[in-house]
Amino acid sequence: MKIVIDGCAVATMDGDRAEHAVGHVVVDGARIASVAAGPAPRDVDATYVDGRGCLATPGLVNTHHHLYQWLTRGSAVDETLFDWLTTLYPVWAGLDEDLLRVGATGALVQLARTGCTTTMDHHYVFPADGGDLLGAEIEAARALGLRFLPTRGSMDLGRSKGGLPPDEAVEELDAILAATAEAIDRHHDPSPDSLLRLGVAPCSPFSVTGDLLEQSAALARDKGVRLHTHLAETTDEDEFCREKFGSGPVEYLESLGWLGPDVWFAHGIHFDDKGIAALASSGSGVAHCPSSNARLGAGICRTRDLWDAGVPVGLGVDGAASNEAASLVEEVRHSVLFARAVGGPQALTVRAGLELATLGGARVLGWDDQIGSLEAGKLADVALWRVDTAAHAGIADPVAALVLGTPPPLELLLVQGRPVVRHDAMVDVDEERLAVDVRAASETLARRAVGS
Ligand SMILES: [Zn+2]
Repeated sequence: MKIVIDGCAVATMDGDRAEHAVGHVVVDGARIASVAAGPAPRDVDATYVDGRGCLATPGLVNTHHHLYQWLTRGSAVDETLFDWLTTLYPVWAGLDEDLLRVGATGALVQLARTGCTTTMDHHYVFPADGGDLLGAEIEAARALGLRFLPTRGSMDLGRSKGGLPPDEAVEELDAILAATAEAIDRHHDPSPDSLLRLGVAPCSPFSVTGDLLEQSAALARDKGVRLHTHLAETTDEDEFCREKFGSGPVEYLESLGWLGPDVWFAHGIHFDDKGIAALASSGSGVAHCPSSNARLGAGICRTRDLWDAGVPVGLGVDGAASNEAASLVEEVRHSVLFARAVGGPQALTVRAGLELATLGGARVLGWDDQIGSLEAGKLADVALWRVDTAAHAGIADPVAALVLGTPPPLELLLVQGRPVVRHDAMVDVDEERLAVDVRAASETLARRAVGS
């Protein structure tokens, strides 16, 4: 099937960062056939999309999330990270595959509606009787048609061993490694056209053992998949690492074999210069989550310093329990505003913000050979934003309308050449029905916590 988007502004994010004030994008099947300035050639076999008044960008890439948290939005709204976690761990302990399927669908729909075509998920809550949790969220992403990189997360450092999570929320090391290997063998698709890749993601230095970190890295490398964890999110974590391991978070992970081009860390707010240099020389990436970091008052990531050092940086919404909006396009605006609030007006350009959300995110996920820019030969993940409604009409620069303006409606969102959003609504989801299901699932989860 051929789709031609004609008459739109285009921000390609290609090697030259080319932009066209009026241009077109031709999609043939799963891939982009051409992107250029001016009107599209006529093709009787193609479906034409009138792109006038719109801006085409690469689909946005989300590099950090916890989909299950869609069911626990709006709790512990004024707490620090550690207090927020200790409030929510007992609620999350009631999760099962049916609840997760609904919560993941809610979170994925919000991502798609805000321009996301590829998302990772970091899932680390595996209650003993929860069923096939990873399978449930994979099913949800497949049903919507999004490109997905779920990571098999884990926690094995319960409170009785000096960790933060309650003992009933953690698993045994051997069971974690076996389940992780099994999930990769069952689901991971390394092919170029893949819509589903897996990763390995122990939760954080304060909820997993050094043994688990080390063995997870070995397993991921053996299987050829990527490695992820939370790092340097709060000063509490920094103190925890120094007290328990005698070093800061980056040195601690480095000592366990955790730096490399196959690794990315969520947050990375409290890196020192030495830490940033270590990330740069090893090629390790960072998922910057500005809204969540501000919501928890954790601080502001040193985006500009990471960028200057050559560290791959992408954007993430993080779990919706610490970012109730979970809107990926808004993270672009926040990344630019926050960088400038601390670093001055030149700290991050509007175009750099969009780059973090597209090509930057693709690099962080190790997927930039296939996605992250609008170029002939790449997979057809395209966002077409309406920038001619009352909220945006007359803005001189369409990229500024997208990045600095209110989130624009999506005229069309293509993943692998297939429409997922059309006229600002999901193509394959009854969103009213979904809202009813999400409310019921959230109430069930809350009730379980009270009951236990
Ligand atoms: Zn997180």
